[in-house]
Amino acid sequence: MSFSSLGLSPQLLKAINALDYKSPTPIQKQAIPEILKGRDLLGIAKTGSGKTASYVLPILSNLKGNTTEKNRNINALVLVPTRELAVQVNEIFQQLSTHLSYPFKSMAAYGGVSINPQMKGLYGVNVLVATPGRLLELIDSKALITNKISVLVLDEADKMLNLGFKAEMDRIFALLPSQKQTLLFSATLSPEVQKIEQLLLQQPIVIKI
Ligand code: AMP
Repeated sequence: MSFSSLGLSPQLLKAINALDYKSPTPIQKQAIPEILKGRDLLGIAKTGSGKTASYVLPILSNLKGNTTEKNRNINALVLVPTRELAVQVNEIFQQLSTHLSYPFKSMAAYGGVSINPQMKGLYGVNVLVATPGRLLELIDSKALITNKISVLVLDEADKMLNLGFKAEMDRIFALLPSQKQTLLFSATLSPEVQKIEQLLLQQPIVIKI
């Protein structure tokens, strides 16, 4: 099976080609068509499975036409446990968005560095990849408006919980629109991850790699 049979645009296929991805990984084959349709998803998959591109590609595809206004509303939020993962995921968004025919901006936001450049940088951002604590600081300082978010990704949810972000995550969930697509990725299906699944996901497709 090739990427061209998954329903992605020629612009995305060109970016995939430039990264030298020859064929989709198992999670990409299963997840991309379902996310394109707007379904919620629970993905039990580890780093190395290609899980990042499995949500980045369909998110970029579904954003089409919704990115023209520049403001402090973001379209999609990707929550991650660490600065390293925030940087990595944002890089994949940047690489795969190179040839899009519509305006697109993504950004990584994480703690441990000055907040001011991140506050300024958020203007016009469509996809924000953030760690939970810094995201709340940005929301509290009105650098970002959350009520237009149509896609929420929780990446490495088990690690986020293990690092003690439960309270921050709950606060963030309460600030998001109830109507949205939610994609939950975790290496393990712990009871705490299952609780989040029950709270946030509606009739999800479940993919276990
Ligand atoms: P991830 O599991 O998302 O952390 O991805 C692991 C690595 O695999 C990253 O370096 C990706 O760039 C790479 N990758 C993702 N999808 C593919 C693919 N279909 N073919 C080859 N490499 C890939």
